[in-house]
Amino acid sequence: MLLQLMGGSAGNAINQIYELLLNKHNVKLNFNQKLKMFSNYVIIYNMSKSVNEITKKSDKNLIPIVNSIKNRKNNKVNRFTKIFNFINKDFIKKVSTMDKDYTINNNCTGCGICKEVCPVKNIEIINKKPQFNHYCENCIACIQYCPQKAINYKNATQNRSRYTNPEISYKELSERNNT
Ligand code: SF4
Ligand code: SF4
Repeated sequence: MLLQLMGGSAGNAINQIYELLLNKHNVKLNFNQKLKMFSNYVIIYNMSKSVNEITKKSDKNLIPIVNSIKNRKNNKVNRFTKIFNFINKDFIKKVSTMDKDYTINNNCTGCGICKEVCPVKNIEIINKKPQFNHYCENCIACIQYCPQKAINYKNATQNRSRYTNPEISYKELSERNNT
């Protein structure tokens, strides 16, 4: 069974998990469900002002999905393989080096929070400034968690707001990244 969470778009997650389970474990996915959530991808768009309301709605809509999983419900797994594989192919090629377009402004204090929240240890602090090592996953945690809004992508994010999950501190993320 699979619960698929989504931000601005459902993307290709179901198809990827479907194929991984089948090819690596010979397990066929028998349930999928989308849950509409807010997206925090500030590289493309600003954070929604109603993020808290959307989150409450998502929490509510999650309950019947959890019950379906508990009851081992089956449904038709929709896979939009061709269109998403086409869209993803080019994007995935570029992702690891998108950090070449991340800039650090003078507000940076060298605190190292960006390094702590990076899930793939792509950031080093050198001379009190972050340096990106081009194996970025474009998760944008560093952009979101920087307390100075010092990290930006090209000229896209300077005037956009930031979001961090109020239930997860950067310290917890850091601990999880280092276990
Ligand atoms: S989190 Fe922000 S202020 Fe802290 S080191 Fe990174 S870029 Fe600089
Ligand atoms: S976007 Fe994510 S993966 Fe890339 S450097 Fe920032 S925290 Fe690390």
